[in-house]
Amino acid sequence: MIPDQCSFCRGKLVKGKTEFIARAGHEVVVIKDVPAFVCEECGEAYFDMEISRKIDDIMRDAHQGKLCVRPLAAGEVELKV
Ligand SMILES: [Zn+2]
Repeated sequence: MIPDQCSFCRGKLVKGKTEFIARAGHEVVVIKDVPAFVCEECGEAYFDMEISRKIDDIMRDAHQGKLCVRPLAAGEVELKV
């Protein structure tokens, strides 16, 4: 599940924590302190099976509006081209 090296840049993966950010409907859910293997070079995060499953559970709850979240200041901008 976890590659030996980053599949994007071949950088070294180090055990650490990251934030997982995803959109659920009109809300943005930020899951903090997610254990992950993070690429030293580009910052890409890799999650093991158990963590991926937990993230899936949280996102499922989020989509069903069952998730208790702390309010978070968020800003959204449109990229004007
Ligand atoms: Zn990388």
